[in-house]
Amino acid sequence: MKLTPLQPWIAQKIGVSSSSLTREAIEQYQLAKLRQTLRLATERSTFYRRRLGQVSLKDLASFQELPFTTAADICQNPLSFLCVSQDEISRVVTLQSSGTTGAPKRIYFTKEEQELTIDFFHIGMSNLVGPGDTVMILLPGQLPGSVGDLLAQGLARLGVRPVPHGLVTEPGKTLEIIREQRVNALVGIPTQVLALARHRSEDGQRAALRLKSVLLSTDYVPQAITRELEQSWGCRVFGHYGMTEMGLGGGVECEALGGYHLREADLYFEIINPITGAPVPEGEEGEVVFTTLTRRGMPLIRYRTGDWARFIPEPCPCGSMLKRMARVRGRVAGACQLAGGSITMQELDEALFATAGLLNFTATLSRPEQLDRLTIGLKMAAGFSEDGIQVIQAALATIPAIARALEQGDLEICLELLPEDWPVTAAKRLIKDLRNGGNNHEKTLPSHAAIP
Ligand SMILES: [Zn+2]
Repeated sequence: MKLTPLQPWIAQKIGVSSSSLTREAIEQYQLAKLRQTLRLATERSTFYRRRLGQVSLKDLASFQELPFTTAADICQNPLSFLCVSQDEISRVVTLQSSGTTGAPKRIYFTKEEQELTIDFFHIGMSNLVGPGDTVMILLPGQLPGSVGDLLAQGLARLGVRPVPHGLVTEPGKTLEIIREQRVNALVGIPTQVLALARHRSEDGQRAALRLKSVLLSTDYVPQAITRELEQSWGCRVFGHYGMTEMGLGGGVECEALGGYHLREADLYFEIINPITGAPVPEGEEGEVVFTTLTRRGMPLIRYRTGDWARFIPEPCPCGSMLKRMARVRGRVAGACQLAGGSITMQELDEALFATAGLLNFTATLSRPEQLDRLTIGLKMAAGFSEDGIQVIQAALATIPAIARALEQGDLEICLELLPEDWPVTAAKRLIKDLRNGGNNHEKTLPSHAAIP
């Protein structure tokens, strides 16, 4: 099995040879970079000067005593994070926040920081494609500096031909371009790529397609979708973890397909207990927190992602000692309470995406009278069979919390078809909870750790 290409790349950044890279060398480098970042942030950013005052870092353990940064902090005053003048910022990404404040979240990048991302995409993609391959990019990419644009630049450096496409709105047309352009690998959002695999032409035929590899990004990756893609196209399905705040790239799976190797020369990751703020024991699940190590424009210190995952303590079969994180299991604030227990979008994904003909769905909880109502909006492939609806009804009842609530008579389920023009977006999929005024999601998490 091929060693993750991230290892020699990170070794080089740290200044040692790949074969002599050790955990100690990585941690020593990270500690030095954390000190630099803290110095820069407390000198130049008004937010961190106020939040942290003067800090000196004894060791990595003492770093865990510093307060967290939250999405709400950024929304409140993004400019207060800047450590360079605005002239040095070459890209601003505005993210619509899902919180109740409504203020958008702005993330700033310098030219050098965009270069770091292109470099990560170049090396990370060499895991799954090589010179002569053609990769279709099913991510937004019109704007210079957008994720699709930076990925295309990274691929070109690898000798791979990028075919920028954007989001899939008409699967039939996208499949035609794949054939015409001789595309042999895809990068996209799980449900979007699934829509291609499940598309049927007018005569009911599935497109005969062989692909080498697929990289899924930007959302939770359901096992049910991975299996379907592997079976449909005979390809390997890799997972990528990243978010805009991280500089888009956070980690990518190696050939072992068992969790992401992390971008440890640019980012320092922690997993914490979201209630106490303390680090969880190695290997246990918690909230993903990261600190930027090489960003000068808008460094982030102990940023709470709201993502739920764990480190994998066992060594990777590829032979690398780089840290590995298991695939993200969902959102910290993503569970919705029913009378029979809690449900998450990820549970719904695993139960429902196994249904033939299902392309996507929405889930909404409401309480019109004395009863919780779960409404599932279904996007089905053309020519789906009516039995599909019954299969979905049965699949929902396999989720324990739903089964219990149904049994107790505390829940009703409504299935409806989404309209033809239901908009396709790159947004993360969540259960929309309209009970209690609709405030159940993305609750503001405490920014200070309550460490005794
Ligand atoms: Zn590996």
